[in-house]
Order: sequence, then structure tokens, then C-alpha cells
Amino acid sequence: MDDVIIIGGSFAGLAAALQLGRARRKVTVLDTGLQRNRFAGRSHGMLGHDHKPPSAILTEARQQLARYPAIKMVNARADNISGTIDNFAVLTGDGVTLSARRVILSYGVVDQMPDVPGYAENWGRSVIPCPYCDGFEVADQHWGLVWSGPQSMNQVRLFHDWTDNLTVFADIHDIAPDIRADLAGRKVPVIDGRITGIARHGSHGATIKIDAGPDVAVDILFAHPRNKPSARLHETLGLTAVATPTGIAIKTDERRETSTPGIYAAGDLANPGMPSVTTASWQGAMAGIFAQQSMLV
Ligand SMILES: Cc1cc2nc3c(=O)[nH]c(=O)nc-3n(C[C@H](O)[C@H](O)[C@H](O)COP(=O)(O)OP(=O)(O)OC[C@H]3O[C@@H](n4cnc5c(N)ncnc54)[C@H](O)[C@@H]3O)c2cc1C
Repeated sequence: MDDVIIIGGSFAGLAAALQLGRARRKVTVLDTGLQRNRFAGRSHGMLGHDHKPPSAILTEARQQLARYPAIKMVNARADNISGTIDNFAVLTGDGVTLSARRVILSYGVVDQMPDVPGYAENWGRSVIPCPYCDGFEVADQHWGLVWSGPQSMNQVRLFHDWTDNLTVFADIHDIAPDIRADLAGRKVPVIDGRITGIARHGSHGATIKIDAGPDVAVDILFAHPRNKPSARLHETLGLTAVATPTGIAIKTDERRETSTPGIYAAGDLANPGMPSVTTASWQGAMAGIFAQQSMLV
């Protein structure tokens, strides 16, 4: 039996494994290799790893984890979890059943691409989610923002640190008159109508096709599609989750333990705040440490 099985071996899961491996706890990491930022050419904002391809950061991390004999990395999907604290069973897609005293869920989320031609194709390049991730590289250029609800006003305020040249696309949303007045005061034009296509031009840059008017060109388009957890294991376990503006997040306490004793969660799957490589790594490290400390005699 393992001490801990970690489901999802990306930034959160590997950070958890590192702490557990260094504490000489027996760990199996199950991973399917589809981390959320795999569409981006470079990852930004992680101290010591800024401007590296995401896959390069993970490859280096896996090489470092190979130093620890107690950590086993397995390319497999977790399909089911049963049992209770000190005796969990995890069924893999290969039909193998593994057992462990604790489980850490770090299987991330999947961004749900709208059915708009060019949206998915340009995700991570001309269509991006986060100014901290990629804003510096396109500072002072013409940014577009796809409105996703009242919370988008926070993005408008945030974006001023990078550019004063912003256009809002209402897309399928009604924008309230008071918000429109605020946007007008900031000299942010609003393009009404539904987005029907996104065509990329150049290294980045996008032409946005609108059903109710002419095309609009921007240098970069920010968008926040809804997301959903990459697996449904938390549902079958009945774990408590909280709603976020774009999806859900598994609820944890300050020790990263979920509503089921012995099951911990870390990374985008359990981050109602600001998801990033840094926060996922920090939460993963905390989950690993608290899972280990929960097994002390
Ligand atoms: C386009 C884009 C660009 C981004 N750029 C940046 C950036 O520059 N800087 C930054 O800090 N953040 C960036 N992010 C955010 C960053 O990608 C996430 O915050 C980070 O990947 C979260 O790490 P995680 O470990 O929680 O989840 P993930 O990295 O998504 O990893 C989850 C892992 O679990 C695996 N998995 C899923 N289901 C199962 C299962 N059933 N069994 C086993 N394994 C499973 C997946 O294959 C995956 O490997 C970006 C996001 C996007 C979408």
C-alpha cells in the first residue's frame, strides 16, 4: 500500500510528490499528461522558470523527482476512488487497483471552448486568459476582452496597467447601462453582437467576426470560457464544491483537506481565486505536507 496516491501529475501534483518523496513517504502519481497550459508557447510568472515552455518546466520537475526512490510516476488515468481514510482504493484506466492511506486530487480543469470557429484553434496564442501570464509581451498594444459577466469589469480595471487601448466585446451578454457609462468614461469602446469567428493574423493578433457589424481587429483577445474539472472523481466521492464565476472549485480547509477525511485537493481544481503555476505548486506542496503530517504517529 502507498502512503499517498496523487491523481494528476502536473504543477500541483508534482509539488505534492516532491514534499512527500523528501519525507520518504511512498507515493504513486497517476497522470495523463494534459496540463491546462499546454496550448501556450511559454509560461510566465513562476520564479526561476519565467518564459520557459510549460512542458520544459514539467520535464525538469520530473527529472528532479527521479532522485526520490519512494516516488513512482505512472502514465495512467484514475477512473474511480473508493474506501475511507487509511484504506483508499484507486482504480486506473488500465484496470489496476492501487491502495493508499491518503489521496491528493490535482487533476486540474478543462477550458470549455465555445462553438466559435477560430476560438479553440487560437487558444493560448491569439486568445488568452490571463494578463499576468502573457500581458507583458503585448503591453501597450490593442487588447480585446470578451465580456463574460459583471466580473469582467475587474479585468477592465486590471488591464489599465498594461494598456490603455482596450475594446470590449459584449458577445452574448447584456452589459448594464451603469457599466457602459463606466466603460465610456475610461474610453473603452463596446462592440455589441455575437462573436461568430476569430481569425488569426501574424504572430499574434486576431480579427473578430461579429454577427451584427463589421469585423474588428485587435492585437490580442482575452477571454474567460467556462471550465470544468478534468475528471468526475470528486462527484462520485460527493466532495463539497463552491461555485466560481467560470466553473466550480473543490472546497478545502486551510490544510487542503476536502470534505472527506484523508482526501486532499490542490491546484486549479481547488482554487476559487487566481489559478496559476505558482499557486498550483504552492497548494500542491501544502497538500503533500499536510497529508504527510496527518499520518504521523
Ligand atoms: C492558455 C493558458 C496559458 C496559461 N499560462 C500561464 C502562465 O503563463 N503562467 C501561469 O502561472 N499559469 C498559466 N496558466 C494557468 C496554468 O496552466 C494552471 O494554473 C496550471 O496548469 C494548474 O496546474 P494544476 O497542476 O492544478 O493542473 P494542470 O496543469 O491542468 O494538470 C492537471 C493534470 O492532471 C491530469 N489528469 C486529469 N485527469 C486525470 C485523471 N483522471 N487521472 C490522472 N491524471 C489526470 C492532466 O492530464 C494534467 O496533467 C495558463 C493557462 C492557460 C489555459
